[in-house]
Amino acid sequence: MAEADCDWGVPPWRIDVAVPRAPRPVRADVAIVGAGFTGLATALACARHFASVHVFESGAVGAGASGRTGGIALEGTAAGPLPGADACLDALAALVREHAIECDLALPGCWIVRHAQGPAAPTAPCWPDADATWLVRERVEPGGALDPGKLVAGLASAALRAGVAIHEHARADAVLPGAPPRLAIGDRSVAADRIVLATNAFLPRFVPDAGIRPALTLALASAPLARATLEEIALGAMPFYTSDLPYLWGRATQSGRLVIGAGLAFDDAGRVERVAIGRADVQDVLARVAARIRGLHPALREVEITHAWGGPIAFREGGVPVLAEIAPGVAATGACAGHGVALSAAIAELLARWAGEGAALPAWGAVGGR
Ligand SMILES: Cc1cc2nc3c(=O)[nH]c(=O)nc-3n(C[C@H](O)[C@H](O)[C@H](O)COP(=O)(O)OP(=O)(O)OC[C@H]3O[C@@H](n4cnc5c(N)ncnc54)[C@H](O)[C@@H]3O)c2cc1C
Repeated sequence: MAEADCDWGVPPWRIDVAVPRAPRPVRADVAIVGAGFTGLATALACARHFASVHVFESGAVGAGASGRTGGIALEGTAAGPLPGADACLDALAALVREHAIECDLALPGCWIVRHAQGPAAPTAPCWPDADATWLVRERVEPGGALDPGKLVAGLASAALRAGVAIHEHARADAVLPGAPPRLAIGDRSVAADRIVLATNAFLPRFVPDAGIRPALTLALASAPLARATLEEIALGAMPFYTSDLPYLWGRATQSGRLVIGAGLAFDDAGRVERVAIGRADVQDVLARVAARIRGLHPALREVEITHAWGGPIAFREGGVPVLAEIAPGVAATGACAGHGVALSAAIAELLARWAGEGAALPAWGAVGGR
């Protein structure tokens, strides 16, 4: 099964971009694999330095995590701030501003909440959760939320305007070493001075020894709720995520939908494309998350759930994402866990400096022996 044919359900986001068919090159200055936030933002940044930038995507723009994410923008990485990834929210805001991308980006902060035990609500506002616990607000961290469909479509449109060629339904099969290295795509190959693999949960195809664990992570969206209801349940103003287990994250959209997620599903062989939304254990997780949503507040008891979906996510020991030159002229990135929305903007700048100015990538830990 190809990455493009996944049965992962339908998120509420709309990816509104028309990508014209572009002639397949035999030579490129920069070839990027993956048209998610990272690949597209990298292409845009590389277009400042190079005339010939090509993005190859096995499905359509946003087919991976970026078109299916929760869209909560957080600072740093799952392992905390790393060199070059300590101002990700600024990088995201600058990217959105520079290219005038209308994606409902708002950065009021993000609630970190935790579970408290006990029969009665400790302090208001708080929400009942699983196993007779309460979700209690702990602190606000920098962050916010956006519409990921609009962001990924806006990045693709901006990249096209900047002269980048995007090739949808073009799966890269392998990187062939050489000077320059080549990317094998079906029965053809493209030689490129710089190759960037921005395939996130699918990075093990190219870098099997990076210690990446891919999974499908799950989310639900409600029908739009009235502003007054969102205010009553105190979930409208800021996104939140739990600092403890059982994990839960959530945010409201501009149209008043609640988008709430939790839970992971795995494939034994690490092939996340083989995990289908209809699989019994996936349906069980979704039912549990739906029950948690309906239990959060009396106003949500009968709430209509309109969307249930999953998307690929990838983890690495200690939460450190992959960003490394894995062979001369070939960089790989991915495994941003639940931080890729803002982190991708910072990674794109680092990759563009590597490709365009010869700057070394920061040392985020060894990948594949390098
Ligand atoms: C349900 C869900 C909720 C999330 N919530 C949040 C959140 O609230 N905040 C946050 O910061 N992060 C969140 N994340 C994670 C975040 O979405 C990702 O870190 C981010 O989107 C990664 O972007 P990317 O461009 O690196 O990867 P992707 O968007 O996954 O892009 C990789 C692309 O590569 C393509 N591809 C793969 N293999 C090949 C190949 N061989 N050839 C060509 N193309 C290929 C894929 O089709 C895909 O389009 C969430 C993820 C999910 C799934």
